[in-house]
Amino acid sequence: MPAAAVGRGFDGYGRRFGRKGPKPEAPFAAGRRGVFWEILPSGAFPIDIRPLEENRVSEPAQGPDFAKGGGLLPAIAQDAETGEVLMLAYMNAESYAETLATGRAVYFSRSRNKLWRKGEESGNVQQVRSIYVDCDADTILLKVHQIGGAACHEGYSSCFFRQVTPGGLQTIGQRLFDPAQVYKKS
Ligand SMILES: [Zn+2]
Repeated sequence: MPAAAVGRGFDGYGRRFGRKGPKPEAPFAAGRRGVFWEILPSGAFPIDIRPLEENRVSEPAQGPDFAKGGGLLPAIAQDAETGEVLMLAYMNAESYAETLATGRAVYFSRSRNKLWRKGEESGNVQQVRSIYVDCDADTILLKVHQIGGAACHEGYSSCFFRQVTPGGLQTIGQRLFDPAQVYKKS
């Protein structure tokens, strides 16, 4: 028996022993006199001993990584039925959370510096069918059903209603509504 085990003190594992208390015995049951440590249930263990991969708090698999864009990530809206690219806007964590909660696309307006509930004024809301993130988790894709048929405030189904041609910009989209009638500035 090692000399240290004769007196009082700690063994090599931090367990206390001594003549005034019983020597620890495996399995080291709690509550015995002279034994101040205990084996905690694994879920209550004070040191997180899970593998490192499981401990990552910024795990992008949970959704978009807004920190990558300084809080704002680009969000593409695509027509869920036709695949037409409708628009590109930006989302912050709050607008993304509201989109998830309501099923309607909510963006963040950089020009107005506030949440932009798409269609709030015109009624042309976007019903979200599905949400995707890209490989880097820093771009969002929404597949939506566009109420009213026009995603663009200019009255076109897509914001990309102009094509770049050798002769300049050419309007290729058909106007579905007159913006002056929809957005009455009062
Ligand atoms: Zn537009």
